[in-house]
Amino acid sequence: MHILIIDDDKNDRFMVTREMRREFSDVEVEEVGEPEEFEQALAAGRFDLTITDYQLRWTNGLEILRTLKQRFPERPVIMFTNTGTQEIAVEAMKSGLDDYILKSPKHLVRLSTTVRSVLERNETRRRANFYENRLQSLLDQLNVGVFRVIPDGRLLEVNSVFLRVLGLNSLDELQSIGGFSEIFSKAGDITPQQRRERELKLRKPDGSSIWVSVNETLNTNQGESVIDGLVEDITGRKRAEESLKRYATRLRTLQELDRSILRAISPAGIAQAALAFTYPLLPCQLLDVMLFNLETQQATVLAVQSNEGIGCSIGESFSLQDFGDIETLQQNQALIIENLAEHPRLYRLQQRLFDQGIHFIMNVPVIAQGQLIGSLNVGAIQPRSLTDEDTDNAYEVANQLAIAIQQSRMREELHRYTEQLEELVSNRTQQLEEANSALEAFAYSISHDLQEPLRAMRGFATILLEEYDTALNSVGQDLLYRIASSVDRMDNLLVDLLAYSRLSRVDLPLQPINLNLLVRQVLTQLEPSLEEKQAQVTVAEPLLEVVGNYRTVEQIVTNLLTNSIKFVPAGVQPQVHVWSERRDASGALRERSVRLWVEDNGIGIQSQHYERIFGVFERLHSIEAYPGTGIGLAIVRKGIERMGGQVGMESEVGRGSRFWIELPEFIK
Ligand code: ADP
Repeated sequence: MHILIIDDDKNDRFMVTREMRREFSDVEVEEVGEPEEFEQALAAGRFDLTITDYQLRWTNGLEILRTLKQRFPERPVIMFTNTGTQEIAVEAMKSGLDDYILKSPKHLVRLSTTVRSVLERNETRRRANFYENRLQSLLDQLNVGVFRVIPDGRLLEVNSVFLRVLGLNSLDELQSIGGFSEIFSKAGDITPQQRRERELKLRKPDGSSIWVSVNETLNTNQGESVIDGLVEDITGRKRAEESLKRYATRLRTLQELDRSILRAISPAGIAQAALAFTYPLLPCQLLDVMLFNLETQQATVLAVQSNEGIGCSIGESFSLQDFGDIETLQQNQALIIENLAEHPRLYRLQQRLFDQGIHFIMNVPVIAQGQLIGSLNVGAIQPRSLTDEDTDNAYEVANQLAIAIQQSRMREELHRYTEQLEELVSNRTQQLEEANSALEAFAYSISHDLQEPLRAMRGFATILLEEYDTALNSVGQDLLYRIASSVDRMDNLLVDLLAYSRLSRVDLPLQPINLNLLVRQVLTQLEPSLEEKQAQVTVAEPLLEVVGNYRTVEQIVTNLLTNSIKFVPAGVQPQVHVWSERRDASGALRERSVRLWVEDNGIGIQSQHYERIFGVFERLHSIEAYPGTGIGLAIVRKGIERMGGQVGMESEVGRGSRFWIELPEFIK
């Protein structure tokens, strides 16, 4: 430690020096008795503390004090004097004197204690200053404004960042605008130990707005309550949060838009859905979609969303020349007029909107497959209403609209084609049905009308045979027999044809059928043929019950049984087996069904003919080998189809065939 002792009395200096040396082991003392020595000491500036007398020959202690404090404000000065008055002491203290001791042997002892405490105090002050400076620079670096107010609202101090954050040049400016009172809490807003945290939106003197967070605590400073606060500019964070929020809303809206577009059917429905979702997103009072017809040069309003009364109404049409600069839109560029009031020339529609109070206009092109099909139009009362983000949003919606409208148009077109096609098909079907029934009617009348002359021929041939047989030789008689048998064959053909055409003409009411009874009845009818062929027929009774038309099923079973005993090689005893089985619902039959099988041991059928034999007049053999008309199986198929059933077969050449018919089961 280095002490400067200023006293022009040599003895006094000695006394003080001795006292200091006695008290402090590492002390270095520099004695000043003359003005030159003072100058040197000042210039060297090596001392930590000064002890000075008041009354000096060449000056006084106050001057010394002021000189020292001016050069070294931090270094303590103690006045040790016996000439001073109370006034001088007060004056000196005001100039920064650290202590004042009366010069007397009694007080000399106190000098060292005073030096010590002054040094300590100084050190404490130095540290406090250091920390305060450090805190201050930290706060400045963190860009945190600091203030201190008395709970009655009076501002005690603020730092420079505080002013900067609020856009103020000085504290005076803050006071003069009398603003920002919302920042400072008052007594009662806040209690000791409690922190008060708030986020506030403020308007700066230049008109721009900022977000700040304010953190306050209630403290006591020298027995007085003060509120210490920190103010931080959080505008950036708030903006980021807001833009994130807006982004999320936008995303949600676009998703909703997608969904509603998917649900909507017509272009108008799609556009209306799009506008309903977009309207809350944009700071506007009018949103509409117009479709353009470049051929007729017309624009038509497809959908509108607006504050009451503003804009056009749905369905309204006007010339593209009244709308705006179409060429710019065709180049996929939006038209933006920030303020209609400042615009030199307005198109008729723009003028109309301006008259309704609209100042801002944006037309975003709706382009599908490179073609301008319309525009999404935004109108706002405030000039310069839309941010870049809003414009992006509008573009996005317009693009989505373009796709959706295009799709919906295609859907509509497809729908129209389908309808046309269906109409065409139904017309053709009707024509075909008419032709078919005409043909069937013709076949019916032919077979019916032919029967009569045929019966006459049969009658005359019989008379000829019975009454004039002697007039004919054997050749003539043979020819007559042939005529008669041809007539029989023709008669059979006509009967079968009639039965066949009858099947498609009459109603076939359905009823439960007991197949046991039906099969027995058919077998009884067929008894002469069965006996003639010595056929053996077994029926696996009980057969299941079905739903069908009795007469038709009877006819079908007759035909199948007739075939099964007919198509058997000569010399082989026909063996026929009939049984039924239950089938699960499948194919054309939605309920449970029953298959009735008729199996024979006949000649069999080659698989390539399975389909063919069900056609009219289709036969695989000559009349001589196996007589028949070729209509039996055609009747089977037609009948079964008309009853909603199915028919099929399996066969092995040389071993036999199995025919089946399938009808809904009758469930009691
Ligand atoms: P048709 O019996 O009057 O000749 P169908 O329409 O009943 O006429 O039968 C058509 C053809 O199918 C028959 O000519 C015959 O060649 C073949 N066919 C029918 N049923 C059998 C069967 N059970 N076994 C072998 N062939 C058969």
